[in-house]
Amino acid sequence: MDKTINIIGAGIGGLTTAIALEQKGFKTRIFEQSEKIKPVGAGIILANNAMQVYTKLGLNKIIESHGNAISSLNITKPSLKPLSKADLSFFEKKHNTKNIAIHRGELQQLLINQLMSSEILLNHKLEDIVQDNDDYILKFNNNKTYNTPIVLGADGINSVVRDCLFPKSEIRHANQICWRGITNYTLPKEFKNELNEAWGKDERFGFVQISDSTVYWYALKSFKKNKNELTHTNIGNYFNDYHSCIKDLISATPKEKLNTAEISDLKPTTTWYRNNVCLIGDAAHATTPNMGQGACQAIEDAFVFSECLETYETDEAFEKFQNIRLPKAHHVVKTSWSIGKMAHISNPILIGLRNKILQLTPTSISKKQYNKLFQLSSI
Ligand SMILES: Cc1cc2nc3c(=O)[nH]c(=O)nc-3n(C[C@H](O)[C@H](O)[C@H](O)COP(=O)(O)OP(=O)(O)OC[C@H]3O[C@@H](n4cnc5c(N)ncnc54)[C@H](O)[C@@H]3O)c2cc1C
Repeated sequence: MDKTINIIGAGIGGLTTAIALEQKGFKTRIFEQSEKIKPVGAGIILANNAMQVYTKLGLNKIIESHGNAISSLNITKPSLKPLSKADLSFFEKKHNTKNIAIHRGELQQLLINQLMSSEILLNHKLEDIVQDNDDYILKFNNNKTYNTPIVLGADGINSVVRDCLFPKSEIRHANQICWRGITNYTLPKEFKNELNEAWGKDERFGFVQISDSTVYWYALKSFKKNKNELTHTNIGNYFNDYHSCIKDLISATPKEKLNTAEISDLKPTTTWYRNNVCLIGDAAHATTPNMGQGACQAIEDAFVFSECLETYETDEAFEKFQNIRLPKAHHVVKTSWSIGKMAHISNPILIGLRNKILQLTPTSISKKQYNKLFQLSSI
């Protein structure tokens, strides 16, 4: 029997899983809907937990050399006056791993370059999956079909694998728009190894150096009824009262190059697998980006999934995988959703209260939370 593991989706989750599986001697094949792997014009922060996985996969050095190390995560006022600072150096030492900010396109390319035997079949948009005795028939929009015993759904928040084979799930909308930009810019020295996120009223702005001369920034704003209330052409006006560095970053970035996304997540679901089919990454547990953990959780999935499949027979492996990963992934989804609400408060009294709480929260509490977040699960 052909034991190739067919992965739907060549995102960070699908690619990392293919690398982890290849390293354990499994044969994999990836089907991707896009005509070519397009680099998203945005950066990404690979937190300590994700970088621990890449260290195990032997990729930490190459990723570090293409990105910029971040040792502090700061929430600030619009003036960039700090409200809270999470010093990550303790975890860097504990796990001997850095947090890296990197261009998404570069990360994707680095991952693709690591694949040794897996082929990526582009232009293959999965439209349907049908069970046929012990096999599944994958049907693609180019009229091709493939029979396969094992399928891995790494096809993101709008997963077709999930829609076809799993109980109905709910995508929740946060009523927030996110614009992401990359621009040639060198931040003042004090910001070089920090991620700063300025919280205002109904909106926030984050920025981080991703290479010597490039900054990745993101801006989020709430809308009431309709996302068309907001437009990227007005973005400068939304952040008029912010620090001059933020205004400079916005004006230095061509608006037509901005990436626009509506913020949503997947309401936690408790079924990630069925006979020989398993969901990973956003397909299983898409989260809002407020903790910068969506891809990091997909990367953790990749590692745990490969360990489970190496140790157990397929269905037992999928069950173990879900048991190990679900509690942490759901913790991230729920906490991130709450952070998103707190960050976008519009009532000035509540904003004052929120800021006081952030200022007064002892660092020991955030250290405890990061300790939990950065701890990898083992099987
Ligand atoms: C604004 C924003 C900022 C973020 N910042 C961070 C961050 O700093 N750190 C972090 O860890 N996470 C971050 N995330 C989350 C992160 O982007 C996702 O969690 C991560 O990309 C999920 O990876 P994935 O591979 O599971 O899914 P995806 O990245 O969605 O990849 C799915 C892949 O499957 C393909 N596909 C989809 N449907 C089909 C189909 N029917 N047939 C074939 N192929 C298909 C897609 O084309 C895609 O290539 C952010 C998200 C957003 C929206």
